Amino acid sequence: MVRERYGRTAVPRPRRWRFPGPILASRRQLETRMSRIATLAVHAGREDLAGLGVHVPPIDLSTTNPVPDLASGAAAYDALASGGVPPADGGLVYQRLWNPTVARFEVALARLESAEAAVAFSSGMAALAACLLAARAEGTPHVVAVRPLYGGSDHLLATGLLGTEVTWTGADDVAGAIRPDTGLVLLETPANPTLELVDIAAVVAQAGAVPVVVDNTFATPVLQRPIEHGAALVLHSATKYLGGHGDVIGGVVATSEDWAARLRRVRAVTGGLLHPLAAYLLHRGLQTLPLRVREQQRVAASLAGWLAEHPLVERVHYPSGPLVGSQMAGPGAMVAFTVAGGFEAAARTVEHVRLITHAVSLGGVDTLIQHPASLTHRPVADCAKPAAGVLRMSVGLEDEQDLRADLEASLKVAHV
Ligand SMILES: *Cc1c(COP(=O)(O)O)cnc(C)c1O
Repeated sequence: MVRERYGRTAVPRPRRWRFPGPILASRRQLETRMSRIATLAVHAGREDLAGLGVHVPPIDLSTTNPVPDLASGAAAYDALASGGVPPADGGLVYQRLWNPTVARFEVALARLESAEAAVAFSSGMAALAACLLAARAEGTPHVVAVRPLYGGSDHLLATGLLGTEVTWTGADDVAGAIRPDTGLVLLETPANPTLELVDIAAVVAQAGAVPVVVDNTFATPVLQRPIEHGAALVLHSATKYLGGHGDVIGGVVATSEDWAARLRRVRAVTGGLLHPLAAYLLHRGLQTLPLRVREQQRVAASLAGWLAEHPLVERVHYPSGPLVGSQMAGPGAMVAFTVAGGFEAAARTVEHVRLITHAVSLGGVDTLIQHPASLTHRPVADCAKPAAGVLRMSVGLEDEQDLRADLEASLKVAHV
């Protein structure tokens, strides 16, 4: 039992920490839980709260933890610095090695993704960097990456800054790109910014024994759980839908316990930690994730249909086809569209929105629009850059008619 006490009888004791409960015990249990993702979103990582006499997760800001005796402190240090979890009867040592508030968010996200474990980082890019470093530490620095990817991910791989080497491929050419030193295959679906879908199971089959990382930022576990399709690692920029309110930066990887240990080791050594206050906000954000994603998706689907008929819009990019309804529970809440008139008209459109915010990022409660070729995908090589007329919109929770009116007005102004 966790020895946290918040009542009058509080007695200071060396802190002990354990997972709030066993993670998914069986496939059947998993299916039952996954069919009730709304319940899971509200309660996962909170199982022990009633026993603690509190209703919301305590926020533990301790940077250091009193060590009860040298032997148990040393044992805990060894376990944590090598990527393990705190020993059952051992204490914690230092926040860079373990933090209970962060661990709660990790447990919750792991359950939503039907993974054994999750490891949280200070940003989505820190999470990706940890995956790359962990693969490199295994002696396999080569990465096969399926384009298109988020501009920052593309940039990190293209620069080889972390000592990795990349081969860019299409989703059908992964098998031919695998080498003996390939440590990871990386893909994003729906892909940023034009929402192309990649068949995860088909890439996993081509990758053979090489672990596949799926960036699930756009779909969220509400719409897509890549581990169920054979992915080894699921990456999130938690900054986006998981947080959902545009006020916290974070990243997280859901994976097996083995991979989680490798990632925690990288995190402990390099220090790309998620702050406990950010973890609290992300854990809270998960509670409304299913509700937000479903409602945002409803409005996005309707706006996509409306834009497809719009005379000033050349093309709408919105997920469709056989993977929607199988791999993905629905098409999601991101809509991209090509404005008639190319770059000039696209630039004027984003500069004239009033209700919608002209800004990068996505997944929050308010609608954002941006020009990927100029901003999020700026560092991407020309051959892989999105077209000049493409805008990417993250649909929020505003009234649909208000959003339509704003888009209508700005498209008109852009074309006078
Ligand atoms: C934003 C984003 C990232 C990077 O995450 P940060 O939290 O900004 O570091 C990675 N992948 C995708 C798909 C993103 O949208």
